[in-house]
Amino acid sequence: MSLDLAPRQRAMLKEMGIKVWWPAAEVAVPVAPPPAVAAVVTPEFIATVAHPTSSKGSFDTENTLQKHPAVAQVSAPRPPAAPFTAPLTSHLAAHLDWPALQDAVANCQACGLCESRKNTVFGVGQAPTDPALAPQVDWLIVGEAPGENEDLQGEPFVGQAGKLLDNMLKALGLNRTRQVYIANVLKCRPPHNRNPAPAEIAQCAPYLQRQIELLQPKIILALGRFAVQTVLADSVPQVATIALGKLRGQVYAYHGVPVVVSYHPAYLLRSLPDKAKAWADLCLAQSVVQKAG
Ligand code: SF4
Repeated sequence: MSLDLAPRQRAMLKEMGIKVWWPAAEVAVPVAPPPAVAAVVTPEFIATVAHPTSSKGSFDTENTLQKHPAVAQVSAPRPPAAPFTAPLTSHLAAHLDWPALQDAVANCQACGLCESRKNTVFGVGQAPTDPALAPQVDWLIVGEAPGENEDLQGEPFVGQAGKLLDNMLKALGLNRTRQVYIANVLKCRPPHNRNPAPAEIAQCAPYLQRQIELLQPKIILALGRFAVQTVLADSVPQVATIALGKLRGQVYAYHGVPVVVSYHPAYLLRSLPDKAKAWADLCLAQSVVQKAG
């Protein structure tokens, strides 16, 4: 199996010092266990961000999500969302459509990171065909948390690491506004770019979970240790104890969505030899997308 790369893409890879190659072995696709759903529902939260009272805007969340997670329509004027300070759960997030999810993140005060952030960073990607729906993309790229530039601009993967990611996407004929959505595990910047705390990840992860449910991408590319640990938490036992390098080269599954893991671009800027491995990871992800049709 090989990638059909245009001369321009090959030139770009050569400029990045990446040789094009392909892993010989076929990959295994483990089946993920069913999602763990938290039992706690806070009506106040649903009332503030899910605006379920409009006949057009309301939806039977459980049935709608089971049939098609991205069909929730919202046409009523959107009231401003109240700051959200209650613990978020997967069950709560399941009541949110894409615009409501954006509102919830923009107003979230559920963990201490809200105090020091300049902007929340919901994500960036291809524009949706209908503003009430999630974008229809093949790729979801998941990073760890906003850094300084991301916090200032409200967009993930800007700066040098973002440029490297953009170049790698270009080499595959993609860009961040075409067939791609990019998001982080944490939507707010940890001060001084420290590592995300487990409690912060636990608090913020339902937003990402809901983004995945609504986007239904053909592939999730998890970049960096914290993104990998979050996305594979349900499918790889003791994932936090396994080095990222040992997790590479396989296709996993997150609630039915294939997952490929790789290094974070910020790490690749410091470790040039691993760029070739990251390119192999992207090729593996690309093959999954191509197989999905
Ligand atoms: S990091 Fe996540 S949970 Fe914490 S305040 Fe920001 S959006 Fe809310």
